[in-house]
Amino acid sequence: MEWNGMELNCILYKHFSYFYYKRKTMHMFIIPFFISWLYIVASYYDYTQNKEQYSAKIQQKHIENLFWNVFVFKPLSLGVILYIRPPVDTYHSLSAEILYVLIQIGFGEVWFYTIHYIIHTKYLYRFHKTHHENNEVIGIFALYAHPFDAIVTNIGSIILLHYIIHFSVFHVYFIGTIAIVNTVISSHTGTKVGFHQLHHKRFTCNYGMNYFMDKLFGTKDNSQSIQDE
Ligand SMILES: [Zn+2]
Ligand SMILES: [Zn+2]
Repeated sequence: MEWNGMELNCILYKHFSYFYYKRKTMHMFIIPFFISWLYIVASYYDYTQNKEQYSAKIQQKHIENLFWNVFVFKPLSLGVILYIRPPVDTYHSLSAEILYVLIQIGFGEVWFYTIHYIIHTKYLYRFHKTHHENNEVIGIFALYAHPFDAIVTNIGSIILLHYIIHFSVFHVYFIGTIAIVNTVISSHTGTKVGFHQLHHKRFTCNYGMNYFMDKLFGTKDNSQSIQDE
């Protein structure tokens, strides 16, 4: 019996499309779980580096808030968008992946700066004040926030862009990893006098992710003298 290419394609498609569908829906569970797990690992790493910052600063209310954000609200919002739009193939071409990462960084900066700036205004600050409760930031407090803040401000740009562009599995893992590692280990490490730590100290500067928006709108503060205050 001889097969021509078309018939063979049809048989293979029929046979594997079920598994292909399964593989795509599988990411809807695995990616949110991976992000939660990574948050805990990054926080533990931060703890090993800055133990003294952690002692006696974590209270019951922090644990409860972090539990809901890290294990429920954030994975749920990611799961929903990945259900609505399962990520496409494992990866796009190299040039497309590089372009999407650049778009993600550019749009992420505009989004985070804008929403973060708006949420600091009088009428919306109630959604952001939880995150600013502790002026002495520590890594694990990166997601200590009102659920609206934790979802919309932090990952709104990833959700929106994924809906529009339809990213690959690789992109979602890559951007998710960068975002978690950056926010826990770099932005919210208490012993560092960094860009976002200054925002927690002074409130009216450094709203973005230190790419271009703060510079553009004159809200960038790079001073290193917060120890003197
Ligand atoms: Zn803020
Ligand atoms: Zn913060």
